Amino acid sequence: SQGNGSSDESIFKTPTIKFTKLFINGEFVDSVSGKTFETIDPRNGEVIARIAEGDKEDIDVAVKAARHAFDHGPWPRLPGVARARIMHKFADLIEENVEELAALDTVDAGKLFSAGKALDIPHVASLLRYYAGAADKIHGEVLKMSRELQGYTLLEPIGVVGHIIPWNFPSTIFFMKVAPALAAGCTMIVKPAEQTPLSALYYAHLSKLAGIPDGVINVVTGFGPTAGAALSCHMDVDKVSFTGSTEVGHKVMKAAAESNLKQVSLELGGKSPLLIFDDADVDKAAELALLGVLYNKGEICVASSRVFVQEGIYDELVKKLIEKAKNCVIGDPFDSKTQLGPQVDKQQFEKILSYIEHGKREGATLLTGGKPSRNKGYFLQPTIFSDVKEDMLIAKDEIFGPVMSLMKFKTIDEAIKCANNTRYGLAAGIVTKNLDVANTVSRSIRAGIIWINCYFAFDNDCPYGGYKMSGFGRDFGIEALHKFLQVKSVVTPIYNSPW
Ligand code: ADP
Repeated sequence: SQGNGSSDESIFKTPTIKFTKLFINGEFVDSVSGKTFETIDPRNGEVIARIAEGDKEDIDVAVKAARHAFDHGPWPRLPGVARARIMHKFADLIEENVEELAALDTVDAGKLFSAGKALDIPHVASLLRYYAGAADKIHGEVLKMSRELQGYTLLEPIGVVGHIIPWNFPSTIFFMKVAPALAAGCTMIVKPAEQTPLSALYYAHLSKLAGIPDGVINVVTGFGPTAGAALSCHMDVDKVSFTGSTEVGHKVMKAAAESNLKQVSLELGGKSPLLIFDDADVDKAAELALLGVLYNKGEICVASSRVFVQEGIYDELVKKLIEKAKNCVIGDPFDSKTQLGPQVDKQQFEKILSYIEHGKREGATLLTGGKPSRNKGYFLQPTIFSDVKEDMLIAKDEIFGPVMSLMKFKTIDEAIKCANNTRYGLAAGIVTKNLDVANTVSRSIRAGIIWINCYFAFDNDCPYGGYKMSGFGRDFGIEALHKFLQVKSVVTPIYNSPW
């Protein structure tokens, strides 16, 4: 039967919530309207805290602060090494508060506390350090022009940036955007997801302690259609960096087009394939396939939600998958034994259940799971469908939950064709010992990152982002720094050059 984690939830305490207001120009302030909204604990549906609800007027105030900090403040004018020193201090403060920060994401998003403490929060500090290391190495080129001209390029910060972030990785995505933008010398307004505002406000507090000047990082909590939309259509914002659904990606880009043609980068949905070939180690392949769809409860844009298995090992692999899925420990995300916590909120929980019903109605075979796993909170069983056809909704739509769709294939060509049969193109995984197969498939799949014999192998230095309707622009790596820079060419005539 499905494991249950700890039965005594009362031992896992909610952290004290210290910050609930908007952070604008270095101060925590109420929203202009005075309105607040509830943020909910997905373990039990209870209210954790009331958070200031920012709207258009608050975005206006925050953009003014960021504009002033960009046009007149020290941050963009500091030598890179001075920005780096402050970013390292910011990282130190995060490292001193790892447990509290991890606890905020656990209570707000249902994320595993053990993973937050060991991975996510230390990782965001390392992201700040990675980009701090780049801050004093931002330079253009001397151009090889015609004999009568000499020229060079300058890389300048793009200006005031709006970051719109989702709820699935509240800390990681905050710093995926904020760290390179800081290194570039930009000023910014962050709009966290309404489901998970808590850690972002804590980071705002730490940024001030670290010495980031007022107005450089502003955090406006609130809803998408109000605060998020106001940011994407603002006339004085130079760039919007968005991570979220493809549906909202359309809106953000449209708002940018209809306002001031601000630059846009979009990291959107996915329906990533994992291709397992006959020569794979069945046990390891099953582990990887489950990790790919259960990690962070399947609430991850690069989840391997379509698993294609070659016919020779199909039956054996299916057996392993069912066995392993049934052993998965579902429970309180504060409990270190738990592997699968609750989905982020009621809406997502119900959406996933309705996809599962769809799968059954369309004729896919439900091998395991498919139901809520507790009578309280938003917990779901790991769910595996077989006999999935390419035109079924569960094979096409991003479900964003612990739901795997299994499909069988015979040849490499067939596998490539099926893997590419999606409007998305974020990631793909390949499991094989055959180098030729791995090389051919990795070059044939239209996706921004390919993992061979691994999955979720992210690194600060490794850019990732979308092909097709998964968006454009890259996060991580030096690529992400360049999203927040623009190129200026400087040209002068040169007389009597000997060369
Ligand atoms: P998800 O499906 O992961 O909830 P969304 O795309 O709905 O993703 O949300 C991602 C982020 O985009 C959140 O911060 C949300 O508030 C914001 N958002 C939602 N609607 C809009 C909008 N119309 N304009 C700008 N931002 C929005």
